[in-house]
Amino acid sequence: MRILITGGAGYIGSHAVRCFLEHGHEVVVLDNLSHGHAAAVPASVLVRGDLAEEDLVFSLLRQHRIEAVVHFAAYCYVGESVREPEKYYDNNLVNSLRLLRAMRRAGVSRIVLSSTCATYGIPAQLPITEDQPQRPINPYGRAKLAVEWMLDDFAQAYGFSYAALRYFNAAGASPKGDIGEDHDPETHLIPLVLQAALGLKPFVEIFGTDYPTPDGTCIRDYIHVDDLAEAHRLAVERLQPGVGLKLNLGSETGHSVREVIRVCEQVTGRSIPVREGPRRPGDPPILVASSAKAREVLGWSPRYRDLHSIVETAWRWHSTHRLGYADRPTTKGVI
Ligand code: UDP
Repeated sequence: MRILITGGAGYIGSHAVRCFLEHGHEVVVLDNLSHGHAAAVPASVLVRGDLAEEDLVFSLLRQHRIEAVVHFAAYCYVGESVREPEKYYDNNLVNSLRLLRAMRRAGVSRIVLSSTCATYGIPAQLPITEDQPQRPINPYGRAKLAVEWMLDDFAQAYGFSYAALRYFNAAGASPKGDIGEDHDPETHLIPLVLQAALGLKPFVEIFGTDYPTPDGTCIRDYIHVDDLAEAHRLAVERLQPGVGLKLNLGSETGHSVREVIRVCEQVTGRSIPVREGPRRPGDPPILVASSAKAREVLGWSPRYRDLHSIVETAWRWHSTHRLGYADRPTTKGVI
């Protein structure tokens, strides 16, 4: 198929681009490179541009005779969304509407949305199934949920087919070690722990040690980025007119912050300095997915089954790219 991937130069997007290309799909990446990295995708597929430019999106859809869109482009910092909600509603919600409008104009009606477990807020039950109430507790989760609602309505009214994939904690990197996680600023646990292992940070701060969990730290469900990428490919291939799929993507196993640090110490063979700090506002104590529906509907089966193997791939990336993509200055910024 011919697929437009928005935000394809970002962390999850770039792994998805590779996955689609490896499976013989034709890909066009639209990315404004505000957070993505040109070096993360083949130069031949990258178009630098913004979703706000509806006419650009429309002409790309037409020009490349796009059959489906995979929509990653979005801001992704929960804390920032609380401080700057306008930025999040504008880029994550309004630009998604622009994308859907351009798709309608161009006669493209298949879309896979990068959604999030943040749409659930504090879960009523664990593991989290798709039928649980969605009560997001921050603008990031609310804007993503509103996009899910738009997709519902576009499916009903205009026959769109969509899959909203609600990720848990994306982690790891391509086993080839050439693409990986590089956020600025970095806020995610595993890269920060590995940066501390490399001596790039003096210590890792644990955000809260008084949670109602066995070791007092938050529990999350870490899922390998290539397994997420594969789920997007499967979802695109299964879209049906007028039908919406809402699927959780997680490993179905929870790990506490202390466990993550311990596994990182095992993988790196280094001792990682830790400081215990206060809770980070907006962090639910435990988030663990049920992905039974994704396994059943998509035939999806995550290949990385334990945190150790996920961290190994992350370590390969971080230890060879201490400064992320900036370690490859000759390719950075080239389109
Ligand atoms: N965390 C932490 N220290 C850090 C970064 C994260 O203790 O420097 C914790 C955070 O509170 C959460 C877990 O690690 O419980 C995963 O956080 P991350 O930001 O990676 O992902 P999130 O769960 O927010 O999507």
